[in-house]
Amino acid sequence: MSGNLPTVREAVLYESLNGGRVRCGLCERRCLIPPDEKGVCQTRQNRAGRLYTLVYGDISALESRPIEIKPFFHFYPGSSALTFSTWSCNFTCPWCQNWHLSKSAPEPKKAKYIPPEQMVALAREEGDQGLCVSFQEPTLLFEYTLEVFKLGKAHGLYGCYVSNGYLTLDALRMLEKAGMTAINMDIKGDEELYRVYLKGAKEGIVWRNARAAKEVGIHVEMIHLLVTGLNDQRNKIERLIQKHLDHLGPDTPIHFTRYFSAYEYHRPPTTIEIMEFAYETARDAGIYYPYLGNVPGHRYENTYCPSCGTLLVERTGYQIRGEWFKDKRCPGCGRTLEITG
Ligand code: SF4
Repeated sequence: MSGNLPTVREAVLYESLNGGRVRCGLCERRCLIPPDEKGVCQTRQNRAGRLYTLVYGDISALESRPIEIKPFFHFYPGSSALTFSTWSCNFTCPWCQNWHLSKSAPEPKKAKYIPPEQMVALAREEGDQGLCVSFQEPTLLFEYTLEVFKLGKAHGLYGCYVSNGYLTLDALRMLEKAGMTAINMDIKGDEELYRVYLKGAKEGIVWRNARAAKEVGIHVEMIHLLVTGLNDQRNKIERLIQKHLDHLGPDTPIHFTRYFSAYEYHRPPTTIEIMEFAYETARDAGIYYPYLGNVPGHRYENTYCPSCGTLLVERTGYQIRGEWFKDKRCPGCGRTLEITG
């Protein structure tokens, strides 16, 4: 702890350099931070040559939510996870759909601190099967998450992240050891989009991390927000689908979600025609489980057997309306379905 504020603690991943500077090792921005300054995300500060997180257990939102909302459609379907977040972000998306949390810098003196033990106790009281860090970038709650996931694992709770996927491999490995069993990674678009809108971030890091997560047995689902005029061109969608296949294979689900005007980017919502194009292109290219999100009642929210097309799960707006399979097998053709838990 620092200055008796419970949410200010020494960071885990950083190195001290000469001149009192530090290099953060939590996300691939790898900020070089001079004394008294903060990193790009505003949640890490150099205090006398040591790096501190300012958001340990500073909880901005907390709610039990169905796992389908994240969205995870192939991970403990029908379960609920106690979902929580902190403040700020390491990305700068002008179209952010959760800007009220991600664009607010932390204020440690006003923090609402929830100790890790209390978070796990709350999940158990609520009858949740897991813990999920979401709403804004979960990587920024790294040190806290390590503790919460470890405690949760001891009580049989799964741990998951809904992330922009920009964490370092060191961070990913430590989370996996602590009990992170699933991650939903948001791929924003191509290299140019990352460079122009996300302060020079790199698309390749996200694909690398998604693949690395999968290789160590973490359940991975991808999400792609189709933003009008930015990444909703047909050739860009086709390219992204090919990248998905190259890095993650056909069995990793992909969720195309519909953009609505938010924060500093104001355009009409993604057209249904483009949403359907993305779904059908992914399906025809061989991805087993493409989905549409933010289009409640659309047939492409459902799960169909990739072999015979039988309807397996019917959904409306992330609510499961009906399930027609048992023991992870398609009733139509007997195919084993890719479902974790
Ligand atoms: S978490 Fe990322 S953005 Fe924040 S200080 Fe560390 S390297 Fe920089």
